Amino acid sequence: MTGGVIHPGSTIGIVGGGQLGRMLVLEARRMGYRTAVLDPGAGAPAAQVADLHVPSALDDPEGLRRLADAADVLTLEWENADPDALASLGRGTPVHPGPEVLRVSRNRVREKDRATALGLETAPYRPVRSAADLSRALREVGTPAILKTAEGGYDGRGQARIAAPEEADRAFHAVGGGRRPLILEGMVSFQAELSVVFARSAAGEDAAFPVVRNVHQNGILDTTVAPSGAPSAVEAEAVDIARTIARGLSIVGVFAVELFWMHDDRLLVNEMAPRPHNSGHLTWEACPVSQFEQQLRAVCGLPLGDTTLHRPTAMANLLGRHFTEGAARGWPRTAYPTPAVSLHLYGKSELRPDRKMGHLTAFGRDADDALRTVMQARDSLRSG
Ligand code: AMP
Repeated sequence: MTGGVIHPGSTIGIVGGGQLGRMLVLEARRMGYRTAVLDPGAGAPAAQVADLHVPSALDDPEGLRRLADAADVLTLEWENADPDALASLGRGTPVHPGPEVLRVSRNRVREKDRATALGLETAPYRPVRSAADLSRALREVGTPAILKTAEGGYDGRGQARIAAPEEADRAFHAVGGGRRPLILEGMVSFQAELSVVFARSAAGEDAAFPVVRNVHQNGILDTTVAPSGAPSAVEAEAVDIARTIARGLSIVGVFAVELFWMHDDRLLVNEMAPRPHNSGHLTWEACPVSQFEQQLRAVCGLPLGDTTLHRPTAMANLLGRHFTEGAARGWPRTAYPTPAVSLHLYGKSELRPDRKMGHLTAFGRDADDALRTVMQARDSLRSG
């Protein structure tokens, strides 16, 4: 995009049809845009609500070409989209964020190398291609450590913890070592995990959503609260880190940076995702402009919106495991246990224990109060 504005009535093409795409589509409709979604599944959450569904693998150049032909601008909800296939679209339809951002963010080694080059701190890490690399890396990084696939893992998949060096072999095989590039990271002991959802427009305008505090279970985000409870200097640094990444990578659009908040108040960059993020879902209720609207504003060249936090808010994910059969049958009664809880369901028909099926958002007097409310609401689903 060369400074041009993409006006309502135009079509936003979205690579990926999951829940992030669905929420992008819903916001796009409200804002007067049309949408086209690329996803292999006919019943994909975003395909259900889009104007046009392009059924295709996400990295199929022909599918991407069809999406680009139908759209005035392309954006992504899936960062593992193939950067080369996107680059091959040429200059016809703008793509935000661009392929270069994806090349960095889809590979944990490149991502951490880039963060380091930008002067940011990360957990200690080493690239691992062979069992010999792993032994050396373990000697250098020490234990406990965590071995991850460098590419393609998400929601805790493709990760194995190593408590002592004799577990190296098992971990190496568990994540497919030898067949794919890996990264070994030292396990760091943090006081909490924070994240920042940040937007940058083509004009270079930027805006941070409130810093949030996250809890993960088995590598999957479980809950998010805002405000984060971190001292204001720590929050300010978190925003500075996001801005450094936004400028360093020339990102256009919304992205999230996940941070480890250490006991001495240092912030380590864990990873970044060049798209709306699960930890930003609460912006839908908690801020004047949601992360999804902000993404659309950024990629369409509109002014960025107000990201102020209205009230303390908490979000809890609903995974397949939270839907006992009884709870699923009891939705209308149990899903609205208090007036302050909002329910989002993603329209996924197949239930798997770790699959993200929806989320709940609640307000409170403070973050802890909001968290209590949202957890109670989720617990009530189990007993429905
Ligand atoms: P990731 O997919 O890298 O975001 O990892 C998922 C979750 O595992 C993180 O949010 C942390 O809770 C935990 N984790 C990942 N890497 C580390 C690390 N190097 N040290 C401590 N905890 C980690």
